[in-house]
Amino acid sequence: TQVFDTLQDRLATVFKGLRSKGRLTEADIDATMREIRIALLEADVNLAVVKEFVAAVKARALDAELSKALNPSQQVIKFVNDELISILGGEARPIRFAKRPPTVIMLAGLQGAGKTTLAGKLGIWLRENRHTPLLVAADLQRPNAVNQLQIVGERAGVHVFAPEPGNGVGDPVDVARRAIVHAEAKLYDVVIVDTAGRLGVDQELMQQAADIKAAVNPSETLFVVDSMIGQDAVNTAKAFDEGVGVDGVVLTKLDGDARGGAALSIARVLGKPIMFASNGEGLTDFDMFHPDRMASRILG
Ligand code: GDP
Repeated sequence: TQVFDTLQDRLATVFKGLRSKGRLTEADIDATMREIRIALLEADVNLAVVKEFVAAVKARALDAELSKALNPSQQVIKFVNDELISILGGEARPIRFAKRPPTVIMLAGLQGAGKTTLAGKLGIWLRENRHTPLLVAADLQRPNAVNQLQIVGERAGVHVFAPEPGNGVGDPVDVARRAIVHAEAKLYDVVIVDTAGRLGVDQELMQQAADIKAAVNPSETLFVVDSMIGQDAVNTAKAFDEGVGVDGVVLTKLDGDARGGAALSIARVLGKPIMFASNGEGLTDFDMFHPDRMASRILG
């Protein structure tokens, strides 16, 4: 599957036009910047990010005196590549593990974002990186959520800590706390806490996530978001950052994202790194997010 089809195609066309030109005048550069701007806007990239992006590429293009350059189109492509990497967050940002295990990773986000699936994916990924993860079912909002995490845990071959059935509704803060004690006793070194999501941002959801966070003191609070919702992803991320505080973003469903607006906006607007990307329903369709690799894929 191709990510960001539209953007990739548009930029390819822009660069093709440049290559046939040879030398580039200032007017050529202006025209190119207009086309790049339209391409980014059509990809649903945040307007402020688009402006900044275009201004940065243009400044470098003018500075490089492309009318005298030997390979002007190659240079423009390089500037675009550099700037894409920059808005995508620069360097990949690895998990910060706690000095004293267990490292707690809390997952927050809306219902359907892909948190439960991500818990399994992250569990497998951690195990492959020589950790011993424990998944924690602290989503007690939906009747089936605990069960779903248990199924994902089984598929992933990662243990799940869940409240005992028949104990009434249960308190997610209490479950999360007991999970940490359990992890310490049983020597799990990473605890992944799955929290409840709602269809929209609401006060109760935020408070619950904030309470869980205060109780378990996570090393990483990851905001999990469906990249296909575009700019709504950015707005929701802001709400979670204000309400709960997030350290990084996980983009899910990148496999179905034909535009790329969320991916290309969220790190810059939020000022927080995209740490992981999820790109499929299979539990191994997952990896750390590498801004440089993503930029290369966009530029084809
Ligand atoms: P939660 O409500 O946040 O826990 O979301 P789930 O983990 O239950 O995921 C919601 C739906 O999205 C499920 O049908 C998942 O199979 C699907 N899903 C999750 N991640 C991805 C992904 O990266 N790509 C695709 N195509 N589907 C995904």
